[in-house]
Amino acid sequence: MDKEMNYGSDYKFIPASSIGSGMGIEVLPDLFCHTVQIVNICLVGDPESNDFVLVDAGMPKSANEIISTAEKRFSANSRPKAIILTHGHFDHVGGLIELIKHWDVPVYAHQMEMPFLTGQKSYPEPDPTVEGGMVAKMSPMFPNEPIDLGNNVQALPSDGTVPHMPGFKWIHTPGHAPGHVSLFREKDRALIAGDAFVTVKQEYLYKVLTQEQEISGPPRYLTTDWKAAKESVMKLDALNPTVAVTGHGLPMSGDLLTTSLKKLVNEFDQIAVPDYGKYIN
Ligand SMILES: [Zn+2]
Ligand SMILES: [Zn+2]
Repeated sequence: MDKEMNYGSDYKFIPASSIGSGMGIEVLPDLFCHTVQIVNICLVGDPESNDFVLVDAGMPKSANEIISTAEKRFSANSRPKAIILTHGHFDHVGGLIELIKHWDVPVYAHQMEMPFLTGQKSYPEPDPTVEGGMVAKMSPMFPNEPIDLGNNVQALPSDGTVPHMPGFKWIHTPGHAPGHVSLFREKDRALIAGDAFVTVKQEYLYKVLTQEQEISGPPRYLTTDWKAAKESVMKLDALNPTVAVTGHGLPMSGDLLTTSLKKLVNEFDQIAVPDYGKYIN
């Protein structure tokens, strides 16, 4: 940690929480998903081994909650071997700086997310005019300036492996963010999808609060490349996942996941792509 790390100047707590906030689900014996307000983090690793990785870093000001979740799942003072980011949106890096300072662990993200993680470039502004509900309308209040991790973040290996996550491969799934990745394990076809698709209509506050399960494309107000987003969903569907943890919403598995993903691919333009919005052409 040679260089000072900073959040953007618009970094702040966002007062929105779903009924699932603070709750955890053991999706698989070595895959645990915990909801921080309205976003999910994953702890990947066998709880007996104390050998684990954190995927994504929650909402702003959530570091203490993430640390205590990890300590409860593993043991007191345990720390992950690495933090893997699906992408750098504010709700996936919210506790990151405090976590790096507390745990002193390496962070990995796709090469194309680096400008947004090293203070060089802001994501395109969220679109409050996009077709959708209250969360879309609230989106201008979300932090948008890039986090600056300095040299505390590095690119994922180009061979597709995921550091400290044996069996998992990262898959480039752009559209929602240029360097968005999903993580897939062939052995049991487990998928950590990030925001490539989600299982709740994230634009609608009521659905976010109640976590009503319904497959959806990536959150609309922050998705800028719908063509790439569709190709990414097709790529994930082709993997035939048996269980998926998404950045927002409840985990989905089995037939429901299979049929929902097929439906999302076949009806992507109706289900995912908004009828109007500034990133629609
Ligand atoms: Zn996102
Ligand atoms: Zn998100």
